[in-house]
Amino acid sequence: MSIHAPLYSLLASPASTSPSGITTLSLPIVIAVAIMIAAAICASFLAYFARARRIVRETSAALSAIGDLNARFIERVTPLPVLAANFTYRASSKANFDRFDLNEYARSCVLEREYWFASEIEARKLRAGEYASYSNELMAAGERTIGRSSDDRVKPSRYKKIEQRLFYRSILARPTPIAQVVTTVTYTSPQGRNSYRKHTEWGFAALQSHLQTAQAVRAQRSTTTYLRAQERRLLTPSLRADILRRDASRCRMCGASASDGVVLHIDHVVPVSHGGRTVSSNLQTLCQSCNLGKSNRFSG
Ligand SMILES: [Zn+2]
Repeated sequence: MSIHAPLYSLLASPASTSPSGITTLSLPIVIAVAIMIAAAICASFLAYFARARRIVRETSAALSAIGDLNARFIERVTPLPVLAANFTYRASSKANFDRFDLNEYARSCVLEREYWFASEIEARKLRAGEYASYSNELMAAGERTIGRSSDDRVKPSRYKKIEQRLFYRSILARPTPIAQVVTTVTYTSPQGRNSYRKHTEWGFAALQSHLQTAQAVRAQRSTTTYLRAQERRLLTPSLRADILRRDASRCRMCGASASDGVVLHIDHVVPVSHGGRTVSSNLQTLCQSCNLGKSNRFSG
């Protein structure tokens, strides 16, 4: 009996009554029962809403329409990863670091991988375009179908609310193109006493416009190079001889001749890079030093 005494006292205590007539240990029980009832109510509410959602999902023309639309577009509008690249340049001196043009360097790096950058940009623009078509079709489908379905098992106002919420939640995310092209130039002084670093960062729009600039500059350069080569080809040995004879084999600027030990050049009066042509009226004989002095003035 002694072994059962603690158990007995524990079991006995709920039975002991307070003056009000409520058992003294009944409060925790009341709380437990209240929690159970509340949980049961919650569960039934959740079950009710889950059932309503399921019914709306199964019967709504709008949700069926957006489901079909998403299935058709999802692969074409899924956002592509950030278009990322890092370019780094180590400057050879502090002066080199100071006048280093980060954007120009970045443009040359981008141009080296031009095909890759161009196709990655294009792929992202294509997705943005596809998303525009998706949006248009989505709006049309929404107008045509939202609020047009119902089901006897769900209150119309609740049906409409659930349908709208599920519809907007189903809209695919916009594939906003993101680029992150970071270009850094560093310089560390001898013995590593001082370290310098500066960088520039391009987003998608900047990357696009810099690539266009780089392509335009290259096109311009290749045109100039082509024109120079062409004009040089036109300067035939016989045309050279004609000009030398006309100018009496003397520099038209200083009058020096081969007998003075100078090297004579045939020069374009208006440089080819400035639109000058290879015709005798635009050609003159110059000595090397006069020619150099002139080309320095005309540089650019
Ligand atoms: Zn000269």
